[in-house]
Amino acid sequence: MSIEFIYPEFEIIRNENRCIACRICERQCANEVHSYDKEYKIMQCDETKCVNCQRCVSFCPTRALKIVKTDCTLRENTNWQNDIVKEIYKQANSGGVLLSSMGNPKSFPVYWDKILINASQVTNPPIDPLREPMETRVYLGKKPQKAGRTEDGKLDCTLPPQLKLSMPVLFSAMSYGSISYNAHKALAVAANKLNILYNTGEGGLHEDFYCYGKNTIVQVASGRFGVHEKYLKTGAAIEIKMGQGAKPGIGGHLPGTKIVGDVSRTRMIPTGSDAISPAPHHDIYSIEDLRQLVFSLKEATEYKKPVIVKVAAVHNIAAIASGIARSGADIIAIDGFRGGTGAAPTRIRDNVGIPIELALAAVDQRLRDEGIRNTVSLVVGGSIRSAADVVKAVALGADACYVATGALLALGCHLCRSCQSGKCNWGIATQRPELVERLDPEIGSKRLINLLSAWKHEIKELMGGMGINSIEALRGNRLMLRGIGLTSKELEILGISHAGE
Ligand code: SF4
Ligand code: SF4
Ligand code: SF4
Repeated sequence: MSIEFIYPEFEIIRNENRCIACRICERQCANEVHSYDKEYKIMQCDETKCVNCQRCVSFCPTRALKIVKTDCTLRENTNWQNDIVKEIYKQANSGGVLLSSMGNPKSFPVYWDKILINASQVTNPPIDPLREPMETRVYLGKKPQKAGRTEDGKLDCTLPPQLKLSMPVLFSAMSYGSISYNAHKALAVAANKLNILYNTGEGGLHEDFYCYGKNTIVQVASGRFGVHEKYLKTGAAIEIKMGQGAKPGIGGHLPGTKIVGDVSRTRMIPTGSDAISPAPHHDIYSIEDLRQLVFSLKEATEYKKPVIVKVAAVHNIAAIASGIARSGADIIAIDGFRGGTGAAPTRIRDNVGIPIELALAAVDQRLRDEGIRNTVSLVVGGSIRSAADVVKAVALGADACYVATGALLALGCHLCRSCQSGKCNWGIATQRPELVERLDPEIGSKRLINLLSAWKHEIKELMGGMGINSIEALRGNRLMLRGIGLTSKELEILGISHAGE
């Protein structure tokens, strides 16, 4: 060992009485942690490579394994915490920017957990969702400011293009390349069966998935990977990605090692070349520029598809959203600072951006104050973890929620936070064929359908408890929410009263 040694974060406990030396754990671990010592006929492990993905634990036939957080600790210090010291060691060793994946893990407040939902008691009785119809459908897109009439005096029912969802949830952008073919397929099939949408992210659309076009949001990011006329025309909607919650203010980077085979063909870039998306769209430096891109995309798709503009939740998000609404966009997607990613610089992920709950409340209020709330729909993401989060988001003003990490968890992700390594043992964030085949897209799609079907039931139950029978009646209904343990400033921004008021 040397000055560069950092004690492993996790320890592998192998119960020798249970272990039958079947070597399954060795075959399951792409990080080559486990090995078999032929001389002594025992299993060994190199814990320095373990990322705690739990794959070996899940597949050990005798439950002989468990992974525990090490208790080998540095001397405790409130200021210089273990992680901070170890990051300094890593940077002193490598001289490089630290990379991480998934969302911000720091202990900033999770406002969803400080908001409580109302329930009807004596007056305005609750509704039993098993006996009464409950409407969870939502339509995303511009709505008319007021009802109009056609020339012959009939009610004018024509609407700008809308996205119809069976429930207020969509799978958010995850690119082919950052996630595997099988993960993409599972999302596409599930979106199709659930009558919702999934999102290509910035990696283009594999030709096998064009058949799921009506359930696909095609993304146009600053790198424009895989963007062409057929791609734009295939999707149900087009999303211009200006920012992402996990890494506001910077671009994207998919390493050349992941640009192989179909990924390179789909992205329309040479095999092995790094896919670098610039921080800005180089043709957008103002709302007027954004408007030009919005209308170019509408023109290219004959004004038949809604255009979404996705931004990260940052300090002046309300003003930004107001500008986007005026750019002609049909939908604004806002990604909070806990949003996941396949890879982001750790410092950016952990320190830049704001919570989605505050961003959403501020944006919805600003658009209402300016009388333009109906001109756009709001979709929010950045750690939507349950049906309760969805209900709270809708009551705060969202039309629908983007879900990504939750969807990956349904596919088997164990949040080991090492997607950037390309060695995802669960076959999700990898392009290695022997790992990709571990994820059965049919089973994956069924698990996604199960998850969202369960959420839909829970959404109905929560709405029923409030005496509300439609998402439309819940949207922006902040009277249904109360804060707990929040300051008056936080309550003011969220636009809700404190519990007990
Ligand atoms: S999978 Fe379990 S039983 Fe098999 S070698 Fe590993 S620890 Fe032992
Ligand atoms: S990286 Fe995953 S599969 Fe490998 S030893 Fe650690 S928990 Fe097990
Ligand atoms: S997708 Fe795979 S690599 Fe990424 S956090 Fe989940 S299990 Fe780990």
